[in-house]
Amino acid sequence: MKTKYEPGQIVSDSDSDDEEYMKEYEIINEMFPDIRFVIAIRLAEMDEIISEKDTIVIKSDYRCYCYRYAHRNTDFFIINRPKNGKITYKHIFTELMNQELFLDCDHRFIEGIEQTPNSECQFEFWLGS
Ligand SMILES: [Zn+2]
Repeated sequence: MKTKYEPGQIVSDSDSDDEEYMKEYEIINEMFPDIRFVIAIRLAEMDEIISEKDTIVIKSDYRCYCYRYAHRNTDFFIINRPKNGKITYKHIFTELMNQELFLDCDHRFIEGIEQTPNSECQFEFWLGS
């Protein structure tokens, strides 16, 4: 009987986590085939309700250091809630795909969408690199 420590166990656990993550990544890519940004949100969060409102605005300002010498104007994306539905991550990403959001700097990984402080209906990206 083996009694010594088996590091193989731990390695195989993290392998299956990676597999799970890759599977999700593929599913998300199929959901949004034409995006020019990276969705860094888990599949389980796609149906999370971001707003109960009929319409929200997403502000995308390009104020990271990547644009220090190449100014880019702020974009605003108007998102209307779907008929008989609410504004979820999935709905927002579909709209952003259709409205051609284009993130091309190091900070193109959308990790979340958060309401702008002191604003009723404006939201902003939480971006990672
Ligand atoms: Zn950047």
